[in-house]
Parts: sequence; structure tokens; C-alpha cells
Amino acid sequence: MFEALGDKLGNVFDGLTGRGALSESDVNKAMREIRIALLEADVALPVVKQFVEKVRKEAVGEKVIKSIKPGQMVVKIVNDALIDMLGGTLSDDDADKAEAAKANALNLAGRPPVAILMAGLQGSGKTTTTGKLGLYLRTALKKKVLFASLDTNRPAAMDQLGMLAEQAGTGFLPIVKGETALQIAKRAMSEGAKGGYDVVFLDTAGRTTVNDELMDEVEAIAKATNPIETLLVADSLTGQDAVETANRFNARLPLTGLVLTRIDGDGRGGAALSMRAVTGLPIKFLGTGEKLDGLEAFDAERLAGRILG
Ligand code: GDP
Repeated sequence: MFEALGDKLGNVFDGLTGRGALSESDVNKAMREIRIALLEADVALPVVKQFVEKVRKEAVGEKVIKSIKPGQMVVKIVNDALIDMLGGTLSDDDADKAEAAKANALNLAGRPPVAILMAGLQGSGKTTTTGKLGLYLRTALKKKVLFASLDTNRPAAMDQLGMLAEQAGTGFLPIVKGETALQIAKRAMSEGAKGGYDVVFLDTAGRTTVNDELMDEVEAIAKATNPIETLLVADSLTGQDAVETANRFNARLPLTGLVLTRIDGDGRGGAALSMRAVTGLPIKFLGTGEKLDGLEAFDAERLAGRILG
């Protein structure tokens, strides 16, 4: 992901840094090229507009055009604007950096067991991400983790989560036939308390589209279990549809963050780049593969670095 965008921005930067002085029209030309590169990468139009305006304003300033290396300064401005768009911090202040890192990390502060509600469309990578996060919490943070599948419509989904629990070394809530998703969620919380678990993952049923029935169900589960984190898992390969889905879930659920999956695929990257700016939600993790170790904590600076090379 991001290769095409990275190449195009690289070309724009070469044009800027390969010369001494820069005129306002040079900057404007570069901004037009950046605008096209972002739109081609499928970044949402309002986000592109805002981004280009912000960069242009800073780049045509006296300080930049009159500086010894104006090209390099513009590149730095683009880099910083990209980090800002991804929800990172631009401050050199360590306290601010720590604040941003905290926003991206999982919140587990609560009386155990805390619930983490996983929401998203079918096929977005919800169950796989549950497995990845469970493994991460168990191994890196030494948490006792319980998985519960709330997908009463698809027995295969429950079996899949059971297998992932085995791989991740976490507990798995046995299935009782005939229970509703809400009943399973409540039982998961009480079993979690009885079993001395720190974290209970509630893997909600996906649907192929966002509909009221799905939303009502997930909303009721969220009310009953009071999750400390409600994560929306979205497939970054679906581009702007993923952003639209996130908006619709965000309108109904108190989402606390996003997980973007399939970053390892050859998508254009627009969803990953627009998601934060459109929804205002922090991206917490990236899914980078099918296996359980294919998970990265989100880091805006690192992603910007990956795009700009
Ligand atoms: P769910 O229906 O939302 O629970 O989706 P699943 O977890 O079953 O994932 C659907 C498919 O996407 C499976 O084949 C997963 O292996 C695959 N998948 C999930 N996350 C990633 C990822 O980050 N990268 C890749 N390449 N595949 C993923």
C-alpha cells in the first residue's frame, strides 16, 4: 500500500529540492501535483482540500521562499501536515508525544474484566484482529484474556474464534445454543469476572452492510457491557467505503478507535489516510497480514515516513 502515492510525492519533491529559489507559482504547481496524487490515492476530497490549503499557506510564506533551501522546507511542511492528518503530534515536546501515544494505545484501566467490543462489517477482519489483539495482550502485557463470539447466525464464525483462542493461548467462552448475542455478552462478562480475566473481547456479528438491525444489536450490547474500548475494524482495501462505514458506525456507537486491516494489500491507501480526519477517531492498530503476528500499533510519524520514503 502507498507505493504509487509515495512515488508521486517523491517526484514532486525532486522537482522542489532540485533547485535553489522557489517562486509562489512553483509552490502552486507543486500543490496542484500533490492534490492530484492524493486524489488518485483515493483520499477523501474534503481531506485533500484541507491538506493542500494548509500546506500552501505555510509554503508560500516569506520565511520559506526566501530561505536558502526552500524545497527542503516545503518537503518538511508536507511531512508535518501528513503526520497531523493521521492524528500524530507535531510537537517536539515529549509530554505531547506521550499524550498522542496514549491516545493510540488501548485503554485497559477499569475494574477487571474490562470489555473490548469489536465492531465492523463481515469480512473486515474483526475476528482475526480479535485473535491478534488477544495474543498481544496476553504475551506483551501479561493479561488474562477471554474471547466471546456473539455471532449467533454463523456457527463458522464462532468456530473460527475458538481456533484463534487456541492459537493465541486465550480463554474462549463455550457456546450455548439458543442464546441471543446480548445474552452471550452478559454471560461473557460474568464468566470473565468469575474466571479472574482481565479483558473480555466481544466479537460482534458482522453484516454485509450497515443496517438498523445490526446497529440496534451492537448498541444494546454496548449499553449492557459498558466496554472500555469499542473498536471499529475496517478493511483499508475498500477505500472510501471503509470511511463511510466508519462514519455510520460512529453515529450510533461510542467508538473509541479504529483498526485498519489489510494494509499489506495493494490498495491505494486513501482509506488509511482519510479515516482519522473524517471520523476524528484515533487509528489504534494496523492489520498487516493474515497471521496472528500481523498487527502493528499505529504510529503516525512512522506511517508518514513510510509514504514519503
Ligand atoms: P470478520 O468477518 O470481520 O470477522 O473477518 P475475518 O477476521 O474472518 O477476516 C476475513 C479475511 O481477511 C480472512 O481471510 C483473514 O485472514 C483476512 N485478514 C484479516 N486481517 C487481515 C490483514 O491485516 N491482512 C490480510 N492480508 N488479511 C487479513
